[in-house]
Amino acid sequence: MRIKKGDNVKMLAGKDRSKTGKVIRVDQSAGRITVEGLNVWKKHARPRREGEKGEIVSVTRPVRASKVALVCPSCKKATRIGMRIDGDKKERVCKKCGATI
Ligand SMILES: [Zn+2]
Repeated sequence: MRIKKGDNVKMLAGKDRSKTGKVIRVDQSAGRITVEGLNVWKKHARPRREGEKGEIVSVTRPVRASKVALVCPSCKKATRIGMRIDGDKKERVCKKCGATI
């Protein structure tokens, strides 16, 4: 998975497809990412104690990393990510315009 926290991504599937947002969490082992303000679902919480009210809370659910595409910061297009080796460090490049991300 080549998406990192702080990247801007475009949703390709699900109810928020074609919307863009910022990655706020990356779970490498599960291959899932959480995008700020996208894939938000309502959850109904029951009252747990006497006198407490049940409420509807909004939960941002993680999505599979393959269901999003990175939005390139220089060409603003949803793109795939390539890798380039520059000396001894690897860098990510935009497949569409070739810019280093
Ligand atoms: Zn680009």
